[in-house]
Amino acid sequence: MNDQAPHALFLARVVAFAASAHVGHRRRGLAQEPYFNHLAEVAQLVAEATGGRDINVIAAAYLHDTVEDVGVTADQLRAAFNDDVAALVLEVTDDKALPKAERKRLQVVNAPHKSERAKLIKLADKTSNLRALVLSPPDWPLERRQEYVDWARAVAAGLFGVNAALEELFFEAAGNADKAIRSLSSP
Ligand code: ZN
Repeated sequence: MNDQAPHALFLARVVAFAASAHVGHRRRGLAQEPYFNHLAEVAQLVAEATGGRDINVIAAAYLHDTVEDVGVTADQLRAAFNDDVAALVLEVTDDKALPKAERKRLQVVNAPHKSERAKLIKLADKTSNLRALVLSPPDWPLERRQEYVDWARAVAAGLFGVNAALEELFFEAAGNADKAIRSLSSP
């Protein structure tokens, strides 16, 4: 075994776990992409932004929606991977016991208090979702799409200062979303 072997094995297990946890789960956009495509995009954004130096943050990016969306528990993540990965996933997981509007409000309020690594995952997540709003828009009225973009900007404002390259990709995605909405609203 060379010294890359443990990392390669670990990430292969993470990818397989995320794919099977989200099996049958699709994105809500027009293209109905497998949800895994979103996870792969978020993980790649985080990996590129950090030069691949932090394997646990990349793993947590693949797994970031497993607790919130498909009922995986923190204990399962701890057993399959490690405490650090489980803690990172929990840090980016909303409390589903709260009403949706309150969860959205709390994301804005809590963003500045997250760890730098959780901020990276959250910013990559918002970037991926804004890209999807343009590339594979959900069946939402334009007003709701604009509200989503505005909310994503409000959350992201609390996540800046950690990674300039990722921030730039976020701004690009938000700008493209604005443009797409504008072009659809003016005949
Ligand atoms: Zn996500």
